Amino acid sequence: MLKIFDTHAHYDSERFDKDREELLQDLTTNQQVGRIVNIACDEASCRKNLEFVKDYDFMYGSVGFHPDEVGDLNEDLINWMKEEALNEEKIVAVGEIGLDYYWNKEARDIQIYWLEAQLAMATELNLPVVIHSREAAKDTLEVIKANGGANRMMDIHCFSYSVEMAREYLNMGHYLGIGGVVTFNNGKKLKEVVEYMPLDRILLETDAPYLTPVPFRSKRNDSGKIHYVVDEIARLKQISTDEVLEQTWKNACTFYNVEP
Ligand SMILES: [Zn+2]
Repeated sequence: MLKIFDTHAHYDSERFDKDREELLQDLTTNQQVGRIVNIACDEASCRKNLEFVKDYDFMYGSVGFHPDEVGDLNEDLINWMKEEALNEEKIVAVGEIGLDYYWNKEARDIQIYWLEAQLAMATELNLPVVIHSREAAKDTLEVIKANGGANRMMDIHCFSYSVEMAREYLNMGHYLGIGGVVTFNNGKKLKEVVEYMPLDRILLETDAPYLTPVPFRSKRNDSGKIHYVVDEIARLKQISTDEVLEQTWKNACTFYNVEP
């Protein structure tokens, strides 16, 4: 049976504290979920990922600091993340790192400084990168181009920009993370991107507990609800849902460099 590869989730969120164990059990035994990459945002989630990857066969993790959290980042933590990633083969990416000019929680020059430092860390570790970019299209592209550009595989997670911007990343060989937003009525821009982009560059993601697809918007998201995203991608590209599942599984394995 075809399986779901959820390339981006946050199961360390306190919103899963009440039923995490049962939910993950149910998702992987009854709901076709084959693999999940839990994405770090700060020191606590990095630590949690090191536990998750040992506790669950189907779980992989990343290390990295989200742009909203880089105020807590320092050289010692960079060195610690490097060491942990080297020692744990199920740490498969650096992320989510990037720029967030919507919340602007940290000054822009600080965000850029730590994005560059974490891109350098990914290069040293030879790991792919999960990028978070919100309302920062121009600077994100500039920083990426100035720091290796196409040399490192990247996932522009929860892609929210135009077809023109998608083309820039696709031309560099990167991937785009597609999730619940593609099912939204106001998700027209993303629907156009999905129609335009090749299927072999789509990474399926939930960003659980956030960005829950229609018809469950405003409820807590989980990897089982990715079926609604798969249905919409299949509709937009006029292919079968099996084709979407099969190809996105392969894409995720290639991106994270794990066995198919
Ligand atoms: Zn996320």
